Amino acid sequence: MAVTHSLGFPRVGAGRELKTALEAYWAGKITEADLRETGRELRARHWRLQAGLGLDLVPVGDFAWYDQMLNMTALLGAVPARFGDGELDLDLYFRMARGGKDQPAMEMTKWFDTNYHYIVPEFARDMAFRPGAEWLFEEVEEAKALRLNPKPVLIGPLTYLYLGKAKQAGFSRLDLLPRLLPSYARILERLKDQGIAWVQMDEPILVLELPDAWRAAFKAVYAELATSAPSLLLATYFDSVTDHAELMKSLPVAGLHLDAARAPEQLEVFLEDYPEEKILSVGVIDGRNVWSADLKRALDRLTPLHEALGSRLWLAPSCSLLHVPIDLNLETELDEEIKGWLAFAVQKLEELAVLDKGLRLGRDSIARELAARDRVLGERSTSPRIHNPAVRDRLEGLTEADFRRFSPFPERIALQRDRLKLPLFPTTTIGSFPQTPEIRKARADYRQGTLNAESYRDRMRAAIREAVVKQEELGLDLLVHGEAERNDMVEYFGEQLEGFVFTRQGWVQSYGSRCVKPPIVYGDVSRPKPMTVEWIAYAQAQTRKPVKGMLTGPVTILQWSFVRDDQPRSTTALQIALAIRDEAVDLELAGVPAIQIDEPAFREGLPLKRRNWAAYLDWAVRAFRLAASGVADDTQIHTHMCYSEFGDILPAIADLDADVITIETSRSDMDLLDAFGEFRYPNDIGPGVYDIHSPRVPETQEMVRLLEKARAVIDPERLWVNPDCGLKTRGWPETERALRSLVAAAETLRRRQAA
Ligand code: GLN
Ligand code: ZN
Repeated sequence: MAVTHSLGFPRVGAGRELKTALEAYWAGKITEADLRETGRELRARHWRLQAGLGLDLVPVGDFAWYDQMLNMTALLGAVPARFGDGELDLDLYFRMARGGKDQPAMEMTKWFDTNYHYIVPEFARDMAFRPGAEWLFEEVEEAKALRLNPKPVLIGPLTYLYLGKAKQAGFSRLDLLPRLLPSYARILERLKDQGIAWVQMDEPILVLELPDAWRAAFKAVYAELATSAPSLLLATYFDSVTDHAELMKSLPVAGLHLDAARAPEQLEVFLEDYPEEKILSVGVIDGRNVWSADLKRALDRLTPLHEALGSRLWLAPSCSLLHVPIDLNLETELDEEIKGWLAFAVQKLEELAVLDKGLRLGRDSIARELAARDRVLGERSTSPRIHNPAVRDRLEGLTEADFRRFSPFPERIALQRDRLKLPLFPTTTIGSFPQTPEIRKARADYRQGTLNAESYRDRMRAAIREAVVKQEELGLDLLVHGEAERNDMVEYFGEQLEGFVFTRQGWVQSYGSRCVKPPIVYGDVSRPKPMTVEWIAYAQAQTRKPVKGMLTGPVTILQWSFVRDDQPRSTTALQIALAIRDEAVDLELAGVPAIQIDEPAFREGLPLKRRNWAAYLDWAVRAFRLAASGVADDTQIHTHMCYSEFGDILPAIADLDADVITIETSRSDMDLLDAFGEFRYPNDIGPGVYDIHSPRVPETQEMVRLLEKARAVIDPERLWVNPDCGLKTRGWPETERALRSLVAAAETLRRRQAA
């Protein structure tokens, strides 16, 4: 009957074993054999787990030592020439991922709209695809030896090329197809020889608005691959692919996988004359979020499909489960009621098994599960813990005036200048100062309960005082408190807001060995009491220079959390915005003259299809403005964003109407500023002149050069001088040297301006 499968499973392990092993291997503490053994154990454990939960096919090739795209690069032997032509072993693999001595790593970027990062393939016109890594074939043998039914997972050739970068001008990535396809064909043939019946080819670029040449390439590519291959399941996820429905139905592949969690409406389009010979894999369980599924609704959706397709219907989660934590059962301390509302990877496969049984044996066979789930969902929807009438009332009572500062920018900035008395080309930093081992230890001890509240406060105050004294010494103009008390810019706020819960073990891989534990927004968000005022007011009391308060913006908090699915994201964003707004007003009341509302994730929230951008930008901008507009004209609102591609959303960024925006530019040599200049960005702007991501400390001359470039396109009156981003990952000595140069650079500019 219906075949059940998963598109991929979290690979790091319930105890983050892969992370531990990788970091030990990199530190030279374990051997390659040890590392490989950990990998083998994890794969076996995860396959058995999935088969035990009822899956007919287990994914192979979803395991990666660092990243699945990099694994594809290794499998294809697509090593950039700059890494030499040595043997493609683990060490070369890790050099590509992490860089080597005097050898920059390959670029890393976000995987579609997730917080997972992949290693970007690097292409040259005449690059060679040499014999690749053997890992995939070995893993297939491992799975077979365990008597499991493996379904290898590959990134499809068009997605692989599309997501890579041409490192030379004068050729298109598509030009590489004739060279790439034989490699794919060889891989598929070998898998067939290993007895593989099905291969999953991920082509998620089909959810994008593809250029015609790329669309057209699908036909030729799959016509060629289909001849040598085992049966191919072409998988798409994260959004609808109805734009390409006819194309996809006409491809000579044996089946399609669609995301029915993000885009359930696409099923209908595909079902209309769905080719007789193809199977349809329906991603009914949401692989991107952590909520228990509405099983009854899912079954209702599947039943007619099942009637139409019979055994040609396959069931799966919507996408790889890589993007959710592994197992809810590890959460022994989570509130029981809320726990009942959640499903992590393991629970999602259990849900899949229930649905499969319902289809096979009839609805009655799962009556108990359906009733139990209905009860839980009913309880969730009416729980007083989710609904806060005060928050709802407040949202309903908002008027347009709440989204606007009192006066327009020119009037505000004049008042702010009077109040702040800053020189031309004012200097500031982005918020955090180095998180020393002592600071980290104090925070950890306080969490563990081995440091009491009073001693903790003393330690934090000492760190704040030290940061303020250093900034005064260095001659910075607008000071910050340094964020010593913050472990993470979202967690810090989430922990103090109503409506959020935190897991203990809810790790999700972000890149390589790095995992994050996103907070879960389950209910209406409110702020029981001030969250930052005590620290920032303390900092302000240490100095006569102005201090800038530091908040995380609503869009970033939303973007880096698992968000409730029972109301639009925009509503949750506005609720968070109200809490941040209240905090800003409290800071203002405490005498803080400037407040920065960080939005580093603002751009990440952009939908995958451009045609949906406007709707997102509209509510995201409103959420920011709601947070920023409660303060008086003479309180200066800063914002900060750190990514270098704003060109296409500048109007929205201007629409935020922050008095000052600081952005990352030093890595792109201020190129980005051309866009700001052309667009005539109306408010103050601080292009970063110190790349904090690099241990390199730039000289004053270098910063002056960057600032001169900026001054050519930005009104000198509007120009700020600051680093690229927060300094928390840097050490004090380099930070001091860099900031000394930065202040000197500002002084040079002031002298030149006066001359
Ligand atoms: N204020 C934060 C810091 O300085 C901003 C971090 C960020 O942009 N990601 O650390
Ligand atoms: Zn930043």
